[in-house]
Amino acid sequence: MKQIANIPDSKKKERVVIIGGGFAGLEMAKKIDKQHYQVVLIDKNNYYQFQPLLYQVATAGLEPSSISYPLRKMFQNQKDFHVRMCEATRIDPEENKVETNIGYIAYDYLVIATGCDTNYFGNDALKESTFALKSVSESLLIRNRLLLSLEQALNAKDPEEFKELFSFVVIGGGATGVELAGALADMKKGILPKDYPELDFNKMEIHLIDAAPRLLAAMSEKSSKKVTKTLTKRGVIIHQGIHVESYEQPVVSLGNGQKIHSKNVFWVAGVTPKPMPGIDNTAYERNRMLVNEYNQVKGYKNIFALGDTALLISEKTPKGHPQVAQVALQMAQRLAKNLNGKVKGRPYIGFEYKDKGSLATIGRNAAVADLGKFHFGGTVAWLLWLFVHIMSIVGMRNRVAVLIDWAWNYFNYDLSLRLLIRPKKSNLF
Ligand SMILES: Cc1cc2nc3c(=O)[nH]c(=O)nc-3n(C[C@H](O)[C@H](O)[C@H](O)COP(=O)(O)OP(=O)(O)OC[C@H]3O[C@@H](n4cnc5c(N)ncnc54)[C@H](O)[C@@H]3O)c2cc1C
Repeated sequence: MKQIANIPDSKKKERVVIIGGGFAGLEMAKKIDKQHYQVVLIDKNNYYQFQPLLYQVATAGLEPSSISYPLRKMFQNQKDFHVRMCEATRIDPEENKVETNIGYIAYDYLVIATGCDTNYFGNDALKESTFALKSVSESLLIRNRLLLSLEQALNAKDPEEFKELFSFVVIGGGATGVELAGALADMKKGILPKDYPELDFNKMEIHLIDAAPRLLAAMSEKSSKKVTKTLTKRGVIIHQGIHVESYEQPVVSLGNGQKIHSKNVFWVAGVTPKPMPGIDNTAYERNRMLVNEYNQVKGYKNIFALGDTALLISEKTPKGHPQVAQVALQMAQRLAKNLNGKVKGRPYIGFEYKDKGSLATIGRNAAVADLGKFHFGGTVAWLLWLFVHIMSIVGMRNRVAVLIDWAWNYFNYDLSLRLLIRPKKSNLF
């Protein structure tokens, strides 16, 4: 008999197991009524990470602790609420059990909110040789690569080697790619010349490569144009409508035959969910789990999927919803209300997405906003972006820390977070 995870039995209440403590899982865990359900929240990490600001950690603008929050702290003093740091590896829908690396966890209701992984579109070589930006640890790897390249550039005697170290390539022209390229351009102009006065920053190259016909393809054309114009003005070299064929260190080969030499290649070209073993293959489309309006996974009554991993196809949304935070939050809010209502005999209500608009920042004083019919950019959009992000960060201490870092950075054109800290290898874990 296989091991059963050590979770107290709640004899009177049904158990809701939530896999994933990201936007959707956390919202679900907050809103579900613990008087009526026992809740078990599991995640690979013991903390929540606010992905929209990962790029700022990667570019030394924020500390990792400012955008992360311990899951246990969030649910202190909650009765019949259990957090387990473990990885779900398989679902057994016949037995209503989740298999994890700490043993089986039984459920009455299962909520899958496992988000996405980086999508390399089947090119494993790119996975091995480029830097991704999907977690706090990956953002620290980018930060270290960036700072190490600058340190090494100081010592590079061979002009070819210098060029490889002093060129930065961002692959993917969605919001993350645009924000990362914009932040690098800000660093090049403001902070780095002060730290490295011996380097000629006119020689630093920032490339942004995008296979789509325009940057920020999910936003309006007006916003795309504005972003392209601003980034170009800030010195970013944009390769539009061109795909990356390969990266064999240090050569990035583009579909148009062009080659860029760089040791700093950041892959932010897309995301895709990782299928969960045990869920029937017919429940998947494009790796996402097909759900109905109640977020029930196709073929199951008590298994739900939320957020990036869920695909709700309807007349209004023939391609499903965008993989963004608002969809994850709203799906979780609806499902929590439905399960809370169920104990009172109320029927489920179908999910309706309320689009609150999209924002992306290009760097200092520059952002774009699509709010319904209104599309605007510049300082107003940037202030709105700052406000929305500050309000979305979990934890008052974190909000204050981010506000202080941003204000300090804005007024001093400086930050003191450019530390190159590398983990020491240990056999103790
Ligand atoms: C760099 C970046 C920038 C972004 N910027 C924006 C933005 O500006 N605005 C916006 O709206 N959206 C943005 N997004 C998208 C947004 O972050 C996602 O849409 C949102 O996080 C989806 O929420 P989720 O709950 O589905 O998944 P996530 O928030 O990704 O949470 C998934 C959780 O599941 C855990 N997990 C995964 N597999 C397992 C497993 N097998 N066992 C246990 N735990 C598991 C993970 O550790 C993670 O904590 C960005 C994404 C990235 C990567």
